[in-house]
Amino acid sequence: MENTVPGGVYLCQVSETVSCGACCGLYNVADPSRAAMTAMLERRTDAFSGVARTVAGILAFKASVEARENQARPYPDFHHCPYIGLIGRRRSRVGCLLHPMADGNGGVDFRGISFYGGMACRIYFCPATKTLPPRWKEALRAAAPDWYHYGLLVTEKGLIQAFFQALEARLGREITATDFGPDPASIRALSDLFALKAEWPHRPPGASTPCNYFFEDNLYPTAPVVYPDGRGPSACHDLFVALNSHFPSADALETAETALSALLGRLVHALTGSGRFFPHRTGAPTGRRHKLF
Ligand code: SF4
Ligand code: SF4
Repeated sequence: MENTVPGGVYLCQVSETVSCGACCGLYNVADPSRAAMTAMLERRTDAFSGVARTVAGILAFKASVEARENQARPYPDFHHCPYIGLIGRRRSRVGCLLHPMADGNGGVDFRGISFYGGMACRIYFCPATKTLPPRWKEALRAAAPDWYHYGLLVTEKGLIQAFFQALEARLGREITATDFGPDPASIRALSDLFALKAEWPHRPPGASTPCNYFFEDNLYPTAPVVYPDGRGPSACHDLFVALNSHFPSADALETAETALSALLGRLVHALTGSGRFFPHRTGAPTGRRHKLF
């Protein structure tokens, strides 16, 4: 599979606990918290295990899911598929309940019953998969902490691009696969980017979801960054755009700049042993998790 995807690096399935279902509308839900989404996916997976693998049985499952779950969506025209659930031996990552390899399907591909149809489900690849350089995709695969954080970030083409460009500018070189090998310091530092994306506290009022509409049809354009009077654009402007940011005060702006600068500083320190390029760096890495905000 890996050799047939754009860029040669497969982002959709990574490990026993890391996979992505963002293009199936996974995060386009009323409550995108980890707890609520995990409960939703567990409930669906349990229910689907008892469903007759017939068109009528599968459509009845869809109807019961849609009747039970809140259908309010941050992006109303972005389809949320009711057939996304948990897969794997321990049901520890997200995946398609209609896939031929999913439990109980006996090798039969039922995805043709879905909204997008079997062909679209089989061949679609998101803009991040198609356009990001392999070295950045490999780094994200290596550092991904779990499915919840992974799918929120890995589709963020603009954020990933702005972040790795900033990192590589500070390093003075491109990152390589060995940068994120078995060294836990660099993995730990990069994994903070996943949390930063999921927990970004500077979204505009009313934009509480971390869900990203990443299709390139401009249906839901990102709002411009709002800076406090007399400030901006920041040196971190591209990152702020990608994170969907609103700064009502100079303090909020400085907090955000410091968080990004500190994260980049921890990464450079992990990769080179030096953090000297970072005036905002808040302290030497300790090996423990850092508070991001
Ligand atoms: S959004 Fe991209 S990485 Fe995620 S499952 Fe779809 S194609 Fe794969
Ligand atoms: S049927 Fe298609 S859209 Fe739905 S979960 Fe499966 S792959 Fe995703």
